[in-house]
Amino acid sequence: MTLPPNVHDAEPIPAAAREAIDALMQSGDLFRYTAPQDAPVALLEAEFAELLGSKYALAVSSCSAALFLSLKALDLPRDARVLIPGFTFAAVPSSVVHADCIPVLCEVGENYRIDMADFAVKLDDVQAVIISHMRGHTSDMDAIMDLCNARGIPVIEDAAHSLGTTWHGRNIGTIGNVGCFSFQSYKMINAGEGGILITDDADLVARAVIMSGAYEHNWKKHKGPRGDNSPELEQAFARWQNQLPLYNLRLSNLSAAVIRPQIPELARRVRDGLANHDYVAERLNTSPYINVPAPLKPERRAPDSIQFNLVGLDEAETRAFAAAADARGVKVQVFGLSEDNARAFWNWQFLPEKFDLPQTRDMLMKACDVRLPVRLTREELDVIADILLASVAEVADAVPAYGT
Ligand SMILES: *Cc1c(COP(=O)(O)O)cnc(C)c1O
Repeated sequence: MTLPPNVHDAEPIPAAAREAIDALMQSGDLFRYTAPQDAPVALLEAEFAELLGSKYALAVSSCSAALFLSLKALDLPRDARVLIPGFTFAAVPSSVVHADCIPVLCEVGENYRIDMADFAVKLDDVQAVIISHMRGHTSDMDAIMDLCNARGIPVIEDAAHSLGTTWHGRNIGTIGNVGCFSFQSYKMINAGEGGILITDDADLVARAVIMSGAYEHNWKKHKGPRGDNSPELEQAFARWQNQLPLYNLRLSNLSAAVIRPQIPELARRVRDGLANHDYVAERLNTSPYINVPAPLKPERRAPDSIQFNLVGLDEAETRAFAAAADARGVKVQVFGLSEDNARAFWNWQFLPEKFDLPQTRDMLMKACDVRLPVRLTREELDVIADILLASVAEVADAVPAYGT
């Protein structure tokens, strides 16, 4: 039998990165603002904006930094309330707290997407929203944008885990006022750490650029679409000169050199990730004890992991399932059951206000997370699916399935 694959190792970084890194080692030119033009970070920004189809991009030290800067760039007052989904990574409410705002949590459904009824109710009491596309699951962006536009509420997309995902054919991250992405190692493009924000709003990006650490006149090295001079952008920089704090959240040229050669790999990674996910999903859905929620209709996903709900298993059986899979070599994380999980909202004890989200809690107690790196082969995917199916059958078949 083939052994379960290692799902933690990353893909090698394309060889082209070495040449660029060697050149940086030779010159020692690691700071984005030293070179008069064409620094790797600036080239990355131009390439990323073009790839996604947005006017402006700003590369920073992490997606969390991009979320923080987005909130700051919206010029929200202290203690502004920011609506976020109750199912996301702890870094998201943390970025809200970091920006001196108050996270407001809304319910998430069994399909890991924002519960639109709860969202609509809570929207009346907030000044901004962060739509966190958790694990790359896209919430109903049509309904969200309609509701937010009607109230003039700005939308930040946390697309950390959604690079390559589309909604009605449009890139995720370009639908709200600003989109934030991550280059941390577990995301589609891996630089260890790093992030980027994209927007079409010249004033917003000018504020974010300055606050990211473009001190004095370094903002002159930020250009408009296709590297052109942009009068709109220059006027915005002039407006904000010396008006804003400098938080120094810049990206290093070294990181940009690691990221840029991965951009041409993205289409393949997205295609393989989706094919792998859908193959495993179809196999898992043959079990009466497993449900892999379907994507929303306008959504085309770019997954590098799979989430599924256990059906009709109680907490002890859920734990037994995870242990059985683990014993066979596949790590299953049940979001609500693993100790101190950073994706379980009750562990965010730093929140200034507490929220009771019974529906999200129920989901987290049965939602399983398994990594599926896009490099896996069909044979390796079968090993994982076989182990998950055997483990759930072992646990579920040991008890009467229908409570008789
Ligand atoms: C990874 C992740 C983040 C945080 O990204 P960093 O670059 O590590 O700050 C935020 N939101 C989601 C949904 C993520 O998956």
